[in-house]
Amino acid sequence: MFKNFLKAGIVTILATLFLVACGNDNEQGNEPTENDQGDADKIQVVATFSIIHDIINELGGDLVDLHSMVPIGTDPHEYDPLPEDVKKANDADVLFYNGLNLEGGKAGWFFKLLEDANASEEHVFELMEGVEPLYLSSEDGAEKEVNPHAFLDPNVVIQMTENAREALIKVDEENKETYEKNAETLLEKLRKLDEEYETKISEIPEERRVLVTSERAYQYMAQQYGLEEGFIWEIDTDENGTPEQITSLVKFVKEKNVPVLFLETNVDPRPMETVSNETGVEIGAELFSDELGEPGEDGGTVIEFLQHNIDTIYEHLKE
Ligand SMILES: [Zn+2]
Repeated sequence: MFKNFLKAGIVTILATLFLVACGNDNEQGNEPTENDQGDADKIQVVATFSIIHDIINELGGDLVDLHSMVPIGTDPHEYDPLPEDVKKANDADVLFYNGLNLEGGKAGWFFKLLEDANASEEHVFELMEGVEPLYLSSEDGAEKEVNPHAFLDPNVVIQMTENAREALIKVDEENKETYEKNAETLLEKLRKLDEEYETKISEIPEERRVLVTSERAYQYMAQQYGLEEGFIWEIDTDENGTPEQITSLVKFVKEKNVPVLFLETNVDPRPMETVSNETGVEIGAELFSDELGEPGEDGGTVIEFLQHNIDTIYEHLKE
């Protein structure tokens, strides 16, 4: 983290020096840069968050000028779009969102952004199209909420990739072959990962096939490959780590004789630390959930993200 901060600091200093040096030539500071002009013939794409950003990047490569909205380290469930996001959404040829309620559903931030940006609906594609939703359990008989985290299941990422491929071809028919070729490369890796999830989870002794995390983000993956889920809260937008939630998980961990606890990279570690202290069960390692790792670091692509999770789960549960 500190390293990144330092890196960002150096980049800022260099950028400032550059601007000072060029001050006389570019007083307005808002003329199009060379880069912007170079991108004029690319299709303009907006993605809501890091996982979609990477899928589109793999498929579109140099053919797309890609803007991802929710930065790593920020919650995709609740996001305040920046003026730049509105502008990019207004200019976009295609906009990709997860759907399944990740961006807050029709009343959430993404649909509000589309309105603010005056974006035409025909340019908007939901990558979870065709994925069967799973529901969180409601506490008081209220309407059940869709669990948005289907992208943690390689099977679903295959579907997302196929959806992305079809959408890109629809808006840019001319480059159909490239999108198909790039999609096939990614799909092949995803199919291998799907097999790896299947094999590795089946090698874990049955009584140890329990995945305990803070948020209930792994419901699709767990159901697909046969893991039982334990969690503190159902979704990040709920209260996180109330005494009742902690007590309930502590009871579950003891009853199921859970061998290890996991922590997601994007959550407050304290509630799970409390569960660990109260049960004497260790936190084994971190898993990715709502976002990729930083570019160039572990989990920086969707393939590495899924690979990290299965390797970590296998290593800590297999015994
Ligand atoms: Zn989440």
